[in-house]
Amino acid sequence: MSPQTANPIDYLRISLIDRCNFQCVYCMPEGADLQYALKENWLSHDEILQLLSEVFIPLGFTRFRLTGGEPLLRPGVVELVEAIAHLPQTQDLAMTTNGFLLEKLAQPLYDAGLRRINISLDSLNAETFQKIIGGRVSGGKATPTRWQEVWQGIQAAHRVGFSPLKLNVVVIPGINDDEVLDLAALTLDQEWHVRFIEFMPIGNDSLFGQKGWIDSEAIRAQIAQRWGLEAGAVKGNGPADVFQIPGAKGTLGFISQMSECFCDRCNRMRLSADGLLRPCLLNESGQIDLRTSLRAGVPLSDLRAQVGALVGQKPDINFKMRESGVTGAYSRTMSQIGG
Ligand code: SAM
Ligand code: SF4
Repeated sequence: MSPQTANPIDYLRISLIDRCNFQCVYCMPEGADLQYALKENWLSHDEILQLLSEVFIPLGFTRFRLTGGEPLLRPGVVELVEAIAHLPQTQDLAMTTNGFLLEKLAQPLYDAGLRRINISLDSLNAETFQKIIGGRVSGGKATPTRWQEVWQGIQAAHRVGFSPLKLNVVVIPGINDDEVLDLAALTLDQEWHVRFIEFMPIGNDSLFGQKGWIDSEAIRAQIAQRWGLEAGAVKGNGPADVFQIPGAKGTLGFISQMSECFCDRCNRMRLSADGLLRPCLLNESGQIDLRTSLRAGVPLSDLRAQVGALVGQKPDINFKMRESGVTGAYSRTMSQIGG
């Protein structure tokens, strides 16, 4: 097979911050040396907008996702959303959030122009949820409140009209795999899209080593046995394979990067909060330090040429990843990379 990219590379995931108010066991394990970027090294709003307008958009990027860490912790996030949403070339602007601060922010974000949101919800059980998100949540409230706050955030997003509302579930054996059917059932009466993500050896290789991961096929089999399952009418343009419980209002997505490599259809790049552009989630080769260059006064036309060259190399990078597969453990967490 030769290196090929099915889709144009037009999608940029922008991490707004590498810190988080949760400490999920699969992402930021306790005791991990997370080496946060210094705040002065975060790309400023102006720098992000300059890079979008002068570097990424002229190269054909038109779809953006704001992520982190927890993007809602980024000071001025609503203003930044508004500015990106109003760039004339922006065709799609989305966000991935843990939802903890969403109840109050859902409406301002919607008013600012955000239309698509993914919220992580790994459990419907407050205690399991607490185990997954770890100990470090500001506010010192009673345990079930944290799940409730996220749930209220989800309800608020639904009320203000985010559509499609997507819920991300990382399935971890022995922790939340017994909830697959309950989580899938959320799609029966609501037009929600529940996405099951295979646990990856990024961030917590010891938990991964102990528990391993459950492949999407096994999750689909469980759901099919309970309700039946059919291929979704709407094929997503991302990494998820879309299915539907017959008669359900919502859909189910399966992101199977461990069991079924989708590198050859990868159309995205990642920009970290401190300005590193990364062509592949699992591969650090080819990274470009845009912040340092920008602050050193490198002309934007040169940065555009460098990023354009990296875009040109991406089919080859995708091909190599496809050939090698997801191997070994990765030292950087999703929160650092901008998952
Ligand atoms: N804090 C936000 C959230 O949790 O939605 C956005 C950032 S988080 C890094 C983005 C996504 O990465 C989440 O859906 C999370 O579940 C996923 N993620 C983090 N670590 C992962 C891992 N080891 N394997 C699979 N998915 C992971
Ligand atoms: Fe924070 Fe999201 Fe990572 Fe959980 S997955 S620790 S919410 S960045």
